[in-house]
Amino acid sequence: MNIQQMNKAELTQLIAQNAENPDPEILAEARRLCDSVYGKQVFMRGLIEFTNYCKNNCYYCGIRAANGNVHRYRLTKEDILTCCDIGYNLGFRTYVLQGGEDPYFTDDIMCDIVSDIRRIYPDCAITLSLGERSKESYQRLYNAGANRYLLRHETATDEHYSLLHPENLLLSNRKQCLRDLKEIGFQTGAGFMVGSPGQTYEMLAEDLLFLKDLQPEMVGIGPFIPHADTPFREEAQGSLNLTLLMVALTRLMLPTALLPATTALGSIDPSGREQGLKAGANVVMPNLSPLNVRKDYSLYDNKICTGDEAAECRMCIQRRIQSSGFELSTGRGDHIGNP
Ligand code: SAH
Repeated sequence: MNIQQMNKAELTQLIAQNAENPDPEILAEARRLCDSVYGKQVFMRGLIEFTNYCKNNCYYCGIRAANGNVHRYRLTKEDILTCCDIGYNLGFRTYVLQGGEDPYFTDDIMCDIVSDIRRIYPDCAITLSLGERSKESYQRLYNAGANRYLLRHETATDEHYSLLHPENLLLSNRKQCLRDLKEIGFQTGAGFMVGSPGQTYEMLAEDLLFLKDLQPEMVGIGPFIPHADTPFREEAQGSLNLTLLMVALTRLMLPTALLPATTALGSIDPSGREQGLKAGANVVMPNLSPLNVRKDYSLYDNKICTGDEAAECRMCIQRRIQSSGFELSTGRGDHIGNP
């Protein structure tokens, strides 16, 4: 099966045929391909959820601006550096700073934080996930020492994008941001939710074709999970099997990609992340956020690991990786094309 050569109709059919009961051979082939590139190594990223303020109103997201039930928080630079210190001692060599689109974190403030982390931890990769910014802003963050940027495209179909977002948010802008990030030199992560409201198999095929075109270094894929305080509260969550299929097909499309077994995947099934690894994922992102803010970074309901200290998450994930036959890597885990 050469999925890189398939057109949209062929991909759509392949997804439809395997959506409910994926052919185990597809998942196994994806895993073998991952083994041939990265071996059994699983790379670990320490996730620091540093603000849950957000100016946007994405219909799926629990920290959307219009949700008045969120207890909002912002970590200080000192808080963030403490997370990094704890993470470093636990063996993390990549920090992921993720947050809502919080206008408080201007370029000056963000660059100050990034350059301090860069100075104190010269051997660590810094990944940012701050949403849409201008190319100038991305360039400043890169110059300050950030290496990677995660910005899921969410869906590669315009009509679907506008079903998931208010009209001030445009897929064209999202895609432009992704191209800007790549041009600047960031290892760039795109990605999408599986089973989000209104999504069809054809749209998932479109997501794969978009990835083929963009060639991102990372792709985050997780099931959509409803949040009670959003317009999508009554919608069904995405399925485990379809998410695993999309992880596997993404691996087959982008053999060298870094693909996380996401927290959302672990939240819909106790062995979701392990199954993700077996379908071709090779990254995990345990939480380094301070315990007292964990529950407030609630993008969706029933998120796992909101009550565990960083050290517990670190050890739990290691056990899970090893008992599924993989090895936890202590390296930065850069994309193999960008050493
Ligand atoms: N503000 C940043 C970070 C967003 S949160 C940005 O815009 O990129 C990271 C990801 O969580 C989002 O890209 C989205 O794909 C996912 N997410 C948000 N709400 C979700 C939900 N209800 N279910 C599953 N995933 C969700």
